[in-house]
Amino acid sequence: MVHRGISVKYTEIFINNKFVNSVSGKVFSVVNPSTGNKICDVQEGDGHDIDVAVKAAKNAFKFGSLWRTMDASSRGKLMHKLADLIVRDKDYMAQLETLNNGKPLSDSYGDIDASVDCLRYYAGWTDKIHGSVIPIDGPYMSMTRKEPVGVVGQIIPWNYPIMMLAWKWGPALAAGCTIVLKPAESTPLTALYMAALTKEAGFPDGVINVVPGFGPTAGASLASHMDVNKVAFTGSTAVGKSIMKCAAESNLKRVSLELGGKSPLVVFADMDIDEAVDITHNALFGNMGQSCCAGSRTFVHEAIYDEFVKKAAAAAMARKVGDPFADDTQHGPLVNEAQFKRVLGYIESGVKEGAKLQCGGKQWGDKGYFIQPTVFSDVKDDMKIAKEEIFGPVQQILKFSSAEELIERANRTNYGLASGILTKNIDTALMFAQAVQAGSVWVNCYDAVCSQAPFGGFKQSGIGRDLGKEGIENYLETKTITIKVPQKNS
Ligand code: NAD
Repeated sequence: MVHRGISVKYTEIFINNKFVNSVSGKVFSVVNPSTGNKICDVQEGDGHDIDVAVKAAKNAFKFGSLWRTMDASSRGKLMHKLADLIVRDKDYMAQLETLNNGKPLSDSYGDIDASVDCLRYYAGWTDKIHGSVIPIDGPYMSMTRKEPVGVVGQIIPWNYPIMMLAWKWGPALAAGCTIVLKPAESTPLTALYMAALTKEAGFPDGVINVVPGFGPTAGASLASHMDVNKVAFTGSTAVGKSIMKCAAESNLKRVSLELGGKSPLVVFADMDIDEAVDITHNALFGNMGQSCCAGSRTFVHEAIYDEFVKKAAAAAMARKVGDPFADDTQHGPLVNEAQFKRVLGYIESGVKEGAKLQCGGKQWGDKGYFIQPTVFSDVKDDMKIAKEEIFGPVQQILKFSSAEELIERANRTNYGLASGILTKNIDTALMFAQAVQAGSVWVNCYDAVCSQAPFGGFKQSGIGRDLGKEGIENYLETKTITIKVPQKNS
């Protein structure tokens, strides 16, 4: 299959280093969001395929296996090799990502660079994960070992298909786990290509398995599987809760969740207004607003509110929408029809509830799932568009008058993923940074996400952290080994 000169090489389920058809024989369509046309059919995994994949992963993890007896440093070398192969195939992978997800090609390149960084960062961790020797009471030597948790199920979303995969594979492989990954049904193509690269890199059979399929079937089976020791999920809060339930009702597998957000990004009047407009614009419209940490509640001080709104609308109208393969495109389609309809529904509710539509609000063009960059002013805290995750190119600008009032309003949400403050006053910035209930606080910047620093949510935005040293903790068990010694010697 060739689309826009891009051939799709892998459309099957990847288990035990082989591409195979689904047990049921079923396939599902993968669609190009720029046109709404089918790209190809992909084999549809369900509970049966998850079963086969988990068996492969369990076998790869068993005592004495190639993977379990491999030096930790060699695991790191394999991960570097995988990163090298991604760099080699970067042009192809970026095009495949843009074809399948709709994000501008330059964004796909950015995601791939970040994914390579992430894999290399965790490759460096492989031989630096260790426990300690503890001076316990009595004639004993006691030590802890950090062991891989075992077979891990990973369920990822469609907004950053390659990058979410790297965020999940990096720490799991560094820890020494084996993996069954279920990519999002809208965007399985780059995950399958990555699977092929893991084989080429030399990962042993069964260490990495990729089963494309739907959430309620393949995803739920993975979360409920008795032989999966841990499940890691990124996606909506509603599904995150169901994953936790599946884990609780099956084998109490470990759970880490990276969920939604409604992140406050606050602009004080002492900030350069053009810089603030630029930062808040990118914080929301990046990736067409389909980011869990999008700065989706823009709070602006009343002294500059009107001028800010005018400039924010002008910035949105100037955003270049179009073919994601064109060099100057900043804004492509949303990922699928469901998201397209959902976001238009939110825009309608904003208008109905009395927010002022400054620009956008409609489909862009007449095919595909494009939505015009949209700005609402006069947004009130209790409006649906100020409370719920829209996950689309819709900016909500709210007014505030004092720092005290702001903290309370910023925290009045079930979410707590990210936040930001733009001010030249260090006291204000520090006060906000300490008081805001969010896993990330960006001061005078936004979205400064990097492999080395943990990322994740307070409250209903998640459990556990991705990235950084904390990211590996999700994939480790601590074992205490205590040995009797003939005589204590301090
Ligand atoms: P989703 O949460 O339904 O999908 C994310 C992943 O979970 C996909 O791989 C999906 O197949 C899987 N999944 C769905 N139902 C499942 C189940 N019952 N058991 C196991 N796995 C399941 O997200 P969506 O429907 O694609 O998007 C809906 C909303 O979710 C978005 O509008 C946005 O608000 C939010 N979302 C958040 C993120 C994020 O990064 N936090 C990513 C995608 C979507």
